[in-house]
Amino acid sequence: MAQQELNPFDSFCTQIDKAGKFIPEEDRKYLQLLKHPQRIYQFALPVIMDSGEIKIFPGYRVQHSDIRGPTKGGIRFHPQVNLDEVKALASWMTMKTAVLNLPYGGAKGGVRVNPKELSSRELESLSRRYAAAVAKFIGPEVDIPAPDVYTSPQIMAWMTDTYSMMAGKTATAAFTGKPMEFGGSHGRSEATARGLFLCTQYVCERLGKSILNARVAVQGYGNAGYNSARFMSEAGAKVVAVSDSIGAIYNAGGLDWEGVLNYKQSNARRTVTGFPGGENISGQDLLELDVDILVPAALENAITSENVSRIKAPVIAEAANGPVTPEADMLLYKNGKTVIPDILANSGGVLVSYYEWVQNRNGDHWSEEYIDDRLQRWMKAAFDNVWQLKVKHSVDMRTAAGVLAVTRIVNTYKVRGIWP
Ligand code: NAD
Repeated sequence: MAQQELNPFDSFCTQIDKAGKFIPEEDRKYLQLLKHPQRIYQFALPVIMDSGEIKIFPGYRVQHSDIRGPTKGGIRFHPQVNLDEVKALASWMTMKTAVLNLPYGGAKGGVRVNPKELSSRELESLSRRYAAAVAKFIGPEVDIPAPDVYTSPQIMAWMTDTYSMMAGKTATAAFTGKPMEFGGSHGRSEATARGLFLCTQYVCERLGKSILNARVAVQGYGNAGYNSARFMSEAGAKVVAVSDSIGAIYNAGGLDWEGVLNYKQSNARRTVTGFPGGENISGQDLLELDVDILVPAALENAITSENVSRIKAPVIAEAANGPVTPEADMLLYKNGKTVIPDILANSGGVLVSYYEWVQNRNGDHWSEEYIDDRLQRWMKAAFDNVWQLKVKHSVDMRTAAGVLAVTRIVNTYKVRGIWP
């Protein structure tokens, strides 16, 4: 497998080129703008550790495009964070907000750290230091961060507090994914999985399949993963396997999603492995199981040219960003698999983040029912738009979603113009 296949920013550029073939030729000149993120910030973040030692963590914030509005995107704390990954994640955010037709661009941030090795005090110091470093470059009308892998509502609260202290006013609209006690929104924590579940349901309807009794495997048992397992289980699917960074578990009769979550949260290693209601398997085996629906909900590059020929699931719903490389994507399509692409499948998260931001800016508070209803209608509209383009151009759903996004972005460039 070529190393280039695993560079997520290269994957993004390949996806843009593929979608670009379906927009008018005279508009394609705008696509190069998407291959160059607008602003890249890089920071050295020092933290005094509990031992007294000073450690420096590399941090990033990439504002990929603000052509359609303030930039928006999460912050990841992970030992493998690097600039190409953050660039790709920021770029996919621009595409995602355009697929949803939100008044946003795209951004992403990250810190190269293993947060599991930090005490709560060290984690708070790092979070506040990151917020202080980006404070000058973000804000409710500029760039609005949110949680991503290994960041939580508590971390968003520390960051919002730090930003507010520096701004001299409480600025809840500067971050989303906050706790309910501090400007958070109903439905935000499960929004990504809610949107993913709805898209999976619409695809199943289109393909004449049913979620009832469908066998599901979920890679990654964090926010996006366990909530996906929950919504699938509640709709009558059988979640037969789930995994995390340590390993995977399997039960042909179905796993109790809540039991697995309680087990993961209560054992010392915080892992699903060893769950009494399942047998341990490897994370790689999970991806290759004979299931009806596969939900990659961990990191990039889960399905590559190396394992794609062994993937059996006919429907793959991307909760994670970039879990399938372009090479693997092509083969999945050729093999008749339906991939619900990240920029649609996991867009429920940024959608409810948008609702949170609107509420914060207006000093408003929406009910759970109101948010759920809006989310359903908005996701359905985005899904229908993507499906129509898929049918019109006879392409896979990722290319269709790409065509929708780049068309909207290019149309905004055309009316705004390129200054001066
Ligand atoms: P999280 O930190 O809540 O959970 C991540 C999970 O992935 C953990 O259970 C971790 O153990 C597991 N994991 C890490 N490496 C793994 C590996 N190699 N194999 C299997 N599991 C592994 O993060 P999250 O918010 O659920 O994010 C997961 C994915 O969903 C990411 O790609 C993220 O960008 C995407 N996403 C999240 C949101 C959101 O609102 N949280 C929105 C859109 C997209």
